[in-house]
Amino acid sequence: MVVGEASSPSTPLTNNCSIIDAQKGDPLAFGSYWKQMNDECTLVIKGWELMSYYSDLSNMCWYMLPELKDAIERIHHLVGNAVTKDRYIVVGNGSSQLFQASLFALSPLDVPDHPVNVVAAAPYYSEYKSAINILHSRMFQWGGDAAVYDKNEPYIEMVTSPNNPDGTLREPVVNSVAEGKFIYDLAYYWPQFTPITHKADDDVMLFTFSKCTGHAGSRIGWAIVKDIEVAKKMATFVQSSSMGVSKESQTRAAKIIGVICDGYQNLKSKESELFFEYSKRLMKERWEKLGEAVEQSMVFGVVKYPNAYCNFTNEISETYPSFAWLKCEEGKENGHNYLRKLNISSREGERFGADSKFVRVSMLGMDDDFNELVKRLSSVKIE
Ligand code: PMP
Repeated sequence: MVVGEASSPSTPLTNNCSIIDAQKGDPLAFGSYWKQMNDECTLVIKGWELMSYYSDLSNMCWYMLPELKDAIERIHHLVGNAVTKDRYIVVGNGSSQLFQASLFALSPLDVPDHPVNVVAAAPYYSEYKSAINILHSRMFQWGGDAAVYDKNEPYIEMVTSPNNPDGTLREPVVNSVAEGKFIYDLAYYWPQFTPITHKADDDVMLFTFSKCTGHAGSRIGWAIVKDIEVAKKMATFVQSSSMGVSKESQTRAAKIIGVICDGYQNLKSKESELFFEYSKRLMKERWEKLGEAVEQSMVFGVVKYPNAYCNFTNEISETYPSFAWLKCEEGKENGHNYLRKLNISSREGERFGADSKFVRVSMLGMDDDFNELVKRLSSVKIE
């Protein structure tokens, strides 16, 4: 069974014939960092603590722990990647739940038999389509590639920047006279993946703990929203679907985000020990290895990313996306089938609304899996 970004764990690397699972987006790469930070991140939760559904009745997002709200504001302030002042924060069970919450909040309620079209420019994150289709909602429906959307009907455009699967920076692309609403999925707008060029300040912005720090298992995402009515509807959605968000997870997220921020604010910290420095270095090394492997094989090509000045690191920086979007250069081949011959499981271009020549492989797997992936890729040769 393959379930979205998460799928069954990869087959152990017993020999060269084992399968490397590079198809799932499980962000395990930063685990070695968190292992080093063992004591700082350890939490003890007593049996009598965190028992209530409620966290802060004075906040419209009543289930959000104040310490998590503070930590979210603190990390955005540190990194400078989003405006939080005078904005509303809504916490969800991963940003996946907030994606649905924002569709619920932005869909017009007065035309229930005419679902609003939800579009995203191809190649788009494959889960948007799946998450919409599974619901058969009367409020919204999947509308396909935003670049070719020309209906004179209201729409919601997903703007994923940096984009999953191809790591490109995105702006809205729909060319229609109809009224559009926008949801910015900024899951990867963190310094280890891309230069921080501006403070994002869009109406609805989605972020996730999964990609910021790698703690996907905690299932914590947050939305930063300008309009309180939209934010309230999103919180209502989370209330109706899960009656809030686990407080154990919120406490852990607040703690870990706090550890990252403390590191930057403690003058004694060594630069190499700071989270974004460590994770960016790791991404850079991985992209260098992948680039060499792909060049040697001469079968696949990768996108070239522009450099930009990063306001967080104060230097010109490259982009190191969490996925490699490989294009099979060989005329007849299908990228996914090609990798299958090498026992590398990947995600087919078609799942993202793209051509079968394209294939997505994860750059965030465990070290052993990643090194083996690179080794196998470099052994590919045109026959
Ligand atoms: N948006 C994008 C672009 C993603 O890649 C992912 C995870 N792969 C998500 C949202 C969902 O993240 P979460 O774990 O917070 O549900």
